[in-house]
Amino acid sequence: MKEFDVIVVGGGISGVIAAVAASRNGMKTLVVESAGYPGGALTVNSVAPMMTFHAGKEQVVKGITDELISRLQAKGKSTGHVFSSDPNTATSTFTFFDQEAMKYELELMLLESGVELLYHSMLAKVTMKDKEIDFITVCNKAGLMGLKGKIYIDATGDADLTVMSGTGYDKGRPEDGKTQPMTLMVKFENVDTDKVREFIRQNPDSFPQFGSVEYLLNREQLCPEGFVNEMKKAKEAGEISIPRENILFFESSNKGEIYFNTTRIINHDPTDPWSLSEAETIGRKQAWELDRFVRKYIPGFEHALMVQTGPKVGVRSSRQLQGQYQLTEQDILNETIFEDGVALCGYYIDIHSPEGEGTKHVTLRKGAKYSIPYRCLVPKETTNLLVCGRSISATFTAQAAIRTTPTVGAMGQAAGTAAALAVRDQVKVQNVDTKELCRILKEQGAVLS
Ligand SMILES: Cc1cc2nc3c(=O)[nH]c(=O)nc-3n(C[C@H](O)[C@H](O)[C@H](O)COP(=O)(O)OP(=O)(O)OC[C@H]3O[C@@H](n4cnc5c(N)ncnc54)[C@H](O)[C@@H]3O)c2cc1C
Repeated sequence: MKEFDVIVVGGGISGVIAAVAASRNGMKTLVVESAGYPGGALTVNSVAPMMTFHAGKEQVVKGITDELISRLQAKGKSTGHVFSSDPNTATSTFTFFDQEAMKYELELMLLESGVELLYHSMLAKVTMKDKEIDFITVCNKAGLMGLKGKIYIDATGDADLTVMSGTGYDKGRPEDGKTQPMTLMVKFENVDTDKVREFIRQNPDSFPQFGSVEYLLNREQLCPEGFVNEMKKAKEAGEISIPRENILFFESSNKGEIYFNTTRIINHDPTDPWSLSEAETIGRKQAWELDRFVRKYIPGFEHALMVQTGPKVGVRSSRQLQGQYQLTEQDILNETIFEDGVALCGYYIDIHSPEGEGTKHVTLRKGAKYSIPYRCLVPKETTNLLVCGRSISATFTAQAAIRTTPTVGAMGQAAGTAAALAVRDQVKVQNVDTKELCRILKEQGAVLS
């Protein structure tokens, strides 16, 4: 059985950054990923742009996650961090990027830092020895394969490793267990964005959530949320079954390339394979409705081509670790900076309704930031497991704020560095010296206060 110091399961943004951090801190590190490339939601689900590296004017996410953007920017594959000119927008910056370049750059960072990659491999089983993970078994083309690590990092987003190790977890809202809806992202090329802008300029009443459409039109990358009148007409005509009241899309760093964050799949469970499969089919049906909708109602899409769905339906929330501390809405609203804070976040609470139409936004004071304590990454009992990314220990509401990509990247750096410390000092994850962890994180570029 192959042995490693640190095994990261899940090669999304949090898992990649965790692996790079562990490896740069001297650990023999492996990433196990079910897709054939890294990036998770940013590439497997086509999520874009990254929001937000900033709280107001202050950059609160730096370190390895920011290094990724600098590398992409140097190759002309990211805009870098673009400040929002709209005082009503809750996110301080948008970071646009090219999706293929993102895949490649993440992979380069992994390889350059000496991380071993095992793609096309899915976690199948976890073998425990008391409260410690002894080894994991993955399923791939070779059949079942055992892998042994000293510390394991669960970066699967859905806390798969946590669940299979018998570690405590929560799922969904406390009142009914419902999670945020899933979304199959839809990508279009060759959109005439000048024409779309003209339509927006002439139909401001279709964009009610913007104080003025000028803010929207001033952005170099077009990112509107609206078209409510057109959506209403299409729904009345029975052309659209998407349980959402408006259309949301983002242009990427490539002109005329648009990612729709508009399909909405409710009442499905992302951790139930049958339900997840059905979610894909519903998402695909909605994507083709969207294709017909944009051609009929939005000038600028006449020559556009829908080039991709997914590739996989996107999951906003599912299972959360029951950690040593559970981050709460109150911690966010109080702008709490914890003594063992290992990542900072400036994003607001953004809950897409599990019921259908509507998105609940709890915006924060301009410039507000809060921290994520190390204890949210640490299980109550399992001694050699850390969790990073969207499935850390947080309430349903708090998770809706800390789930976005710059923040989970920062958490990844914290998890990878903590894993390296646990191996170096031969301690349980519960006993990692958090003062030393914070010192190293800061020394290696992270912002913690
Ligand atoms: C539709 C949608 C829109 C969003 N919009 C934005 C946005 O505009 N901006 C923003 O910043 N954030 C956005 N988010 C949030 C953000 O994308 C995610 O919360 C974040 O990327 C989560 O990162 P992660 O590393 O925790 O998990 P993921 O990115 O989900 O990565 C998990 C990885 O683990 C792999 N994996 C899972 N299970 C296993 C297993 N059992 N075995 C092996 N591998 C496994 C997966 O293939 C994946 O690569 C959005 C999310 C969704 C779903």
